[in-house]
Amino acid sequence: MRRSQLVVALLVGCGLWLAVGRTGEAPPEAPKEQTMAEQTGARPGPMPPLSAEEAQIIRHKGTERPFSGAYTETVTPGVYVCRQCGAPLYESSAKFRSECGWPSFDDELPLAVRRQVDADGSRTEILCASCAGHLGHVFQGEGFTAKNVRHCVNSRSLVLRASSAPVQWAIFAGGCFWGVEEQFAGQPGVLVAQSGYTGGRTVAPTYEQICTGTTGHAEAVRVAFDPGVTSFEKLARLFFEIHDPTTLNRQGPDAGTQYRSAVFYFGDGQRQTAAALIEQLRAGGWAVVTALAPAGPFYAAEAYHQNYLARNPGRVSCHRRVPRFEQRP
Ligand SMILES: [Zn+2]
Repeated sequence: MRRSQLVVALLVGCGLWLAVGRTGEAPPEAPKEQTMAEQTGARPGPMPPLSAEEAQIIRHKGTERPFSGAYTETVTPGVYVCRQCGAPLYESSAKFRSECGWPSFDDELPLAVRRQVDADGSRTEILCASCAGHLGHVFQGEGFTAKNVRHCVNSRSLVLRASSAPVQWAIFAGGCFWGVEEQFAGQPGVLVAQSGYTGGRTVAPTYEQICTGTTGHAEAVRVAFDPGVTSFEKLARLFFEIHDPTTLNRQGPDAGTQYRSAVFYFGDGQRQTAAALIEQLRAGGWAVVTALAPAGPFYAAEAYHQNYLARNPGRVSCHRRVPRFEQRP
């Protein structure tokens, strides 16, 4: 594609909408006090700065002393995210006791972990696929579990977002992911809200490719949640109220299939719940065009898209809540 086309495609995106949306908006709110959970990265949002010890491990490929980390023996349900960037890496269901002195997992979340052979060729290093932060090493053939794999991870490379029950997942596409992500990140029970791309053909697409509208992917937000605190139905109701589900392949001035409204469901239960909510909205007069499709590969968006609105408080979200389940159009 020609560079001029790319510039036009980028301008049509969120930036222009936000620039327009700022006009006449209320003055920005005073910065809120950070909770302890936000300070430690235990809630969605920008991750706190690394300590010197964490930086030594994550940026300089160090190794913590065995049995010295916070998660060596942890069995609490939840999702482990990258200490540096907050990307989800492992579910607690993949954690097992190896007695090796570091947290051990026999599987990673899809596309979350990158492997590379150490400089001396002896071991395989594992890194966060989103930020390249050092996690540890991966070993095969030790026979610990049926999967026969051990991700040996430094506790200090991880933060556990604890859950009262096994974590569940949802993926929603509702236009520019900055605003959708911000809305879900603030919900009780939400452990992860990650911007990314899904539902298309291109493998590992970039934002520039997404902006052409030719990859088939939608801008989407992947949510991990504690089913003991919230539910898929509650989150799906929120989804239908924070974006316009009646405009085909468009949210405000953002046009193209990459801005389509869609629920990428995990299992038939989620599909039925989303379909019932759509029927409820249609009965209330809303001509909903939201697509339902099974969840497939989810590619995390580039780091500069994650927590975008939280990191850029001067920007105004393009998503505001309209109580569509209580009012007619
Ligand atoms: Zn990371």
